[in-house]
Amino acid sequence: MSQQNTLSARLRTLIDTVQQNERALQRFQQIEVRLISADDFPSFLDALVSDLARAFELSVVTLWLDERAPHVGELLHAEPGHVLDARHLRGGRAEALGKDLPWPPRARRAPWLGQPAELAPPLRAAFFDPADEPQSVAVLAIEGGEGVCGYLCMGSADPGRFAAGMATDLLQRFAIFVSAGLVNVAHRERLRQEGVTDPLTGLPNRRYFDARLHEEVQRAARIGAPSACLFIDIDSFKHINDTFGHGVGDRALIAVAACIRRSVRLGETVARYGGEEFVALVQGDTQQALVVAERVRAAVEALTVLDDTAEPLKLTVSIGVAAQVMKPDGPPACDVASALIEAADAAMYRAKRAGRNRVECEVASESGKT
Ligand code: GH3
Ligand code: MG
Ligand code: MG
Repeated sequence: MSQQNTLSARLRTLIDTVQQNERALQRFQQIEVRLISADDFPSFLDALVSDLARAFELSVVTLWLDERAPHVGELLHAEPGHVLDARHLRGGRAEALGKDLPWPPRARRAPWLGQPAELAPPLRAAFFDPADEPQSVAVLAIEGGEGVCGYLCMGSADPGRFAAGMATDLLQRFAIFVSAGLVNVAHRERLRQEGVTDPLTGLPNRRYFDARLHEEVQRAARIGAPSACLFIDIDSFKHINDTFGHGVGDRALIAVAACIRRSVRLGETVARYGGEEFVALVQGDTQQALVVAERVRAAVEALTVLDDTAEPLKLTVSIGVAAQVMKPDGPPACDVASALIEAADAAMYRAKRAGRNRVECEVASESGKT
């Protein structure tokens, strides 16, 4: 009798476990579909940090990537201007973790389960924000094209949730999907970004800028804020090409592009608009944009770019500035955006006529101009 009871109790436990695993597998599968079909990195990351955490009642999920992750640059800058949540997406150099990893060297990397206190402190600091530190964790190695390139760290507020010796088949399977999804989304990001990036300077191209300007005008209109545009044209650039050749001209373009990028705030968009023309989008009124424009002008003038005989080139820019307070009930965003850029372009031509190496702003006449 008691033997039969024990047997049926064992059977019940076994059935419970199978059913639990079945449910867990279904939840994992739903997330795997999202990971594999993610169009961009933000939605891939969202499937991991939000859906996974919700489905398995985790207190925190972080993805840590190192420099070997496929197209890691594209991933970490998936949305220019859109800062990915640093709490959930972390990264660093592989060798910084190497000696602290809980796996023996070259061991097959099954998921590691345990309490954060068992991990070396640098590892804990790399994987989790101190404010989030969970009670127990599962760390899954993620593989890119050439071996391990990161870790998915799942944390629970329950100290007994993840512990050494627990079955890890489902987690191991999930790690394979995360790895495949990561490679897939990295390729997508790369293709997407190649279409909007100028290959010479690495800046966004005109196509990207036009889309960003449109978005910015809409954003500013919602809150009645001013937006400004800088139109920047290198002075007498044809002369540089004609005198020193296209190679030197290209080097000068790269240097000026980087210089403009450094002279405006990180979140503000700078693009190569055409040959030797750049544009920058500044969140502010005419006065604020004029300050930025003057900073750009002075920085380019102070740049040192050498020709092939190691002589410094004379590089200057003429800049046109246009700003406008956007209004919620104003004209359509596309009209406002093209008017802004045309006004900045017209002001730039005035700067050329006035002698080059200077900043001009549009003449404030119509209402709404700042
Ligand atoms: P201004 O001061 O009036 O602007 O004179 P400019 O010589 O800069 O203007 P212009 O429009 O006459 O010449 C622009 C030159 O920029 C001509 C073109 O060959 C050169 N250019 C455009 N794109 C590139 C590029 O990718 N590489 C190089 N090296 N030159 C380029
Ligand atoms: Mg030009
Ligand atoms: Mg020019």
